[in-house]
Amino acid sequence: MTLQSTRTLPYGEAALADAAAAIRAGQCVAVPTETVYGLAADATDSHAVAGIYAAKGRPSFNPLIVHVPDADAARRIAVFDARADRLAAAFWPGPLTLVLPLRPGGEIASLVTAGLDSIAIRVPAHRAMQALLAASGKPLAAPSANASGTISPTRAAHVLATLDGRIPLILDDGPTRAGLESTIIALTGTQARLLRPGPIAAATLAAALGEPVLAAGDGAVVAPGMMASHYAPSKPLRLNAADARPGEWLIGFGAVAGQDTLSATGDLIEAGARLFDSLHRADASEAESIAIAPVPMDGLGAAINDRLARAAADRD
Ligand code: AMP
Ligand code: MG
Repeated sequence: MTLQSTRTLPYGEAALADAAAAIRAGQCVAVPTETVYGLAADATDSHAVAGIYAAKGRPSFNPLIVHVPDADAARRIAVFDARADRLAAAFWPGPLTLVLPLRPGGEIASLVTAGLDSIAIRVPAHRAMQALLAASGKPLAAPSANASGTISPTRAAHVLATLDGRIPLILDDGPTRAGLESTIIALTGTQARLLRPGPIAAATLAAALGEPVLAAGDGAVVAPGMMASHYAPSKPLRLNAADARPGEWLIGFGAVAGQDTLSATGDLIEAGARLFDSLHRADASEAESIAIAPVPMDGLGAAINDRLARAAADRD
């Protein structure tokens, strides 16, 4: 993680122009939402999204929530059914995240969904996040703007406390209102399921839907990184491979060349950005199994190795 100087700018036209330029240049910007400060990056740029993980020092890749200006923008990214239409009409803009089927052929980076075919999406109500969405013209992936393992930030000073030197810009628009992360509801199955409790209660959602919402524990694995739905290739995966054995598709890294490489130069941010696309390509290939070169543990390497270890273990 290269250190850089972090500027905190009060919300306004000039700050917004700088923030939008940073987003378009593939950088991360901290911006308030009505829940907590988010660390936003262009959701269509895998390298920018890898930068979020690098800045936060996240030890694993959990899918991120994508923020869009309105429900129409959400419909271009996700597949809505009648339930999604109803919840969007009732609670957007606001602190409700919908997990919906990803619209195929879209331009969202696979790192955003951690390779899944579902996507978490919401329309935020905060003027600063809304203005950044408009000014950048990009859907913005944004987890909380704090270093991994620390408390979610509700003020610019909280962001600075753990991300100083790791991001270029904090858009300061005062303390956030809710201070609690958005409620997440999954509409990918026949029954609506609460994935994360939040400012909008499950009972309120059930009333709006006119049908029950399964509680977090009801057959669902909820802790981030533990989701049963986490993407893993269907083929056996061999880790720390120096070369390919017969029948294997080798994903290289650095000096280890393969059919494909995470990063020929050994750049861990590039490797993070390419990880899920590489796994999908390997899975879709003619090869019977997959091998992958060793990836060092420093920086984003920890998250990459965590994901690979799960992918290698996730088989029966
Ligand atoms: P954060 O970005 O830290 O607020 O966390 C986002 C939450 O949304 C995590 O708990 C993820 O597991 C969850 N999430 C994001 N995308 C999906 C998805 N496609 N399917 C299920 N859960 C998701
Ligand atoms: Mg967080």
